[in-house]
Amino acid sequence: MTNVSLRGLSKSFGHFSVVKAFDLEIAAGEFVVFVGPSGCGKTTTLRMIAGLELPTGGEIFIGSRDVTDLDPRDRRIAMVFQSYALYPHMTIRENLGFALKLAGVPKEEIARKVEAVADTLGLQQYLQAKPRTLSGGQRQRVALGRAIIREPDVFLFDEPLSNLDAKLRSVMRNEIIRLHKSLKSTMIYVTHDQVEAMTMGDRIVVMHGGVAQQIGTPLEVYDEPANLFVATFIGSPSMNILEGEVENGKFQCQGISIDSPVPVSGKAFLGIRPEHLRIVPHDTPGAIRGTLGVVEHLGAETIIELLTDGPVITARIPRADGLSGGAELYVAANHIHLFDKDGNRIET
Ligand code: ATP
Repeated sequence: MTNVSLRGLSKSFGHFSVVKAFDLEIAAGEFVVFVGPSGCGKTTTLRMIAGLELPTGGEIFIGSRDVTDLDPRDRRIAMVFQSYALYPHMTIRENLGFALKLAGVPKEEIARKVEAVADTLGLQQYLQAKPRTLSGGQRQRVALGRAIIREPDVFLFDEPLSNLDAKLRSVMRNEIIRLHKSLKSTMIYVTHDQVEAMTMGDRIVVMHGGVAQQIGTPLEVYDEPANLFVATFIGSPSMNILEGEVENGKFQCQGISIDSPVPVSGKAFLGIRPEHLRIVPHDTPGAIRGTLGVVEHLGAETIIELLTDGPVITARIPRADGLSGGAELYVAANHIHLFDKDGNRIET
């Protein structure tokens, strides 16, 4: 088990700064997920850790070794890509053993390790097959196996499940979590999928514009988003954001008036997660009035859209069979988030 530290890590392409002075301490054995929208710099950060991209500033340590200028093959890392990157002309057995063969590992030892990895990943029956005869999920399993067999200090994953359908993605997600538990290795995982981030990471790093916006456990980030970007990026449906003013202890926004939990004043943003709204009688304090727009019946719960005089509000409520569009109704929040005029969280 090895820790990883990024110290002031930066990358520019010409004048375009893609990763900005990134500091992060990853503990030995930790599973850290970098999550953010396309172009936020997460892949570039991972590629710098792998040695596939040279930083323009800062340092990378793997354990006590400064690897900033080391060749990728000297970093004791293994990377798993979205594209699997299997050798098409080799059998699965040869694909799994190839890195060990290159490293001059004796044949018997390679054979033993290939068997062990094939057992772990349920690949025994495919060892003689060529990659093209395997499904996407099976190929990704081989790609995982190729990483595991090298016994690296650190595993790096770059959107490894993006090419799989939703069901298989969730199966493979669990498989990787299970692997992490049994191998206890340090793992760094890049994804744009917040569900993957929330379910897999011991900690997640939410990135935007080359900057780590927040670093924390999934629930910390969900419960106490540091700013509007994190608040709206994590969670589905997204947090409702109302732009308004706080005056005399009340947040006001286009006919909506909600008690402010903190004594601030001036421009502010109020955030309400959809699951924190309930349908209430019209005279409930803080009730938001609106007309019912789209209603989505998901079975266990219902997602409703409320057209107010101001923003459209989304609520996620327990199953409500009778609802249909057009009706007037009121919702109220049992938990809110407050952000200042710059979009930064105000502790409540
Ligand atoms: P994605 O999920 O789309 O890969 P990302 O968050 O991983 O997004 P990066 O791939 O790290 O983002 O890219 C960050 C920014 O750097 C993007 O705007 C991208 O266009 C730019 N970029 C990446 N590689 C290069 C390169 N070799 N030359 C110039 N610009 C690059």
